[in-house]
Amino acid sequence: MKECRPRYTGIYEYAGPKIMTIRSFIKMLALVVVLPAGLMSCSKAETQCYPTKGVALQVLGSGGPIADDGRASSAYVVWIDGKARVLVDAGGGTFLRFGEAGARFEDLDFVGLSHLHTDHSADFPALLKSGNFSDRERPLPVAGPEGDGVFPGLKDFLVAMLDRESGAYGYLAGFLDGAGGTPLLTPHEIATGAPSLLWSSENLTIDGMRVPHGIVPAVAFRVRAGGTTIVFGSDQNGSDPAFVDFARNASILVMHMVVPEDVAGVGRRLHAPPSVIGEIAGQSNPDHLVLSHFMARSLKDLDANVALVRKAYKGNVVVADDLACVTPQAGREGT
Ligand SMILES: [Zn+2]
Repeated sequence: MKECRPRYTGIYEYAGPKIMTIRSFIKMLALVVVLPAGLMSCSKAETQCYPTKGVALQVLGSGGPIADDGRASSAYVVWIDGKARVLVDAGGGTFLRFGEAGARFEDLDFVGLSHLHTDHSADFPALLKSGNFSDRERPLPVAGPEGDGVFPGLKDFLVAMLDRESGAYGYLAGFLDGAGGTPLLTPHEIATGAPSLLWSSENLTIDGMRVPHGIVPAVAFRVRAGGTTIVFGSDQNGSDPAFVDFARNASILVMHMVVPEDVAGVGRRLHAPPSVIGEIAGQSNPDHLVLSHFMARSLKDLDANVALVRKAYKGNVVVADDLACVTPQAGREGT
């Protein structure tokens, strides 16, 4: 018999004085009454991003690079009118969550890999293999960073995986050469400098800009659909003021709260602590700030870390869970 275990380590929703809605009250009851019993019902709402009309962000993976947080690594989907049109990141666990969310490879218009650390890219070949069974024929644009130092750029990364002769997954080489009617990947590398346009269609525009993540080339993405703007800050240390302009007045800003406030050394060169995330959000002023990409060490004092964020940012703060759905109108839904 299928056992449905609680997936989440906590459900938090900070919306100022109007925090206790009926929905959040029911969630609280579920946590207090149901979770100690060790089971939680598997409602469809856990794996669907509502509303099906309009634009919504679904968190596929809210965890970090260490297998200590009970979460998939970084991945997000943007839903537009019931279709998963954009995938940002494909860290470990994305393959499973992508299917649980009901997303379909053939609906994707764009994939952005913010950087090529495993917790942002390791499940990408698995998704390609899954997509190989779909009826997709049109190319799939994929964007990621230009290489730097020891880190390959997106194109070399794809060749290392998919080249017919030398690739680790050479059996998927059709994604590079179109053999057998396989949809081609069309890679686009993002260099340092001003933000660049990555995709534009009737109702979807995507830009990217490099963000500082130690020595690791990394990219933030901005997805605009209709009147909704969703910005994915990626892993970054928060030191580039240009990112505030890039993210300004977004409907939803996703920031990665990987490290605690007292982080130092390499960790600080890679990641922004909670207070810096708060400053970025305070200056860029999104309607909703989604905190994600947790490790056990940033979940440990989560309430205190969120309080640090809220010192400089007074809008809605959503603490991400896997499969959580965030709408621009109503904050988090569906979990
Ligand atoms: Zn990461």
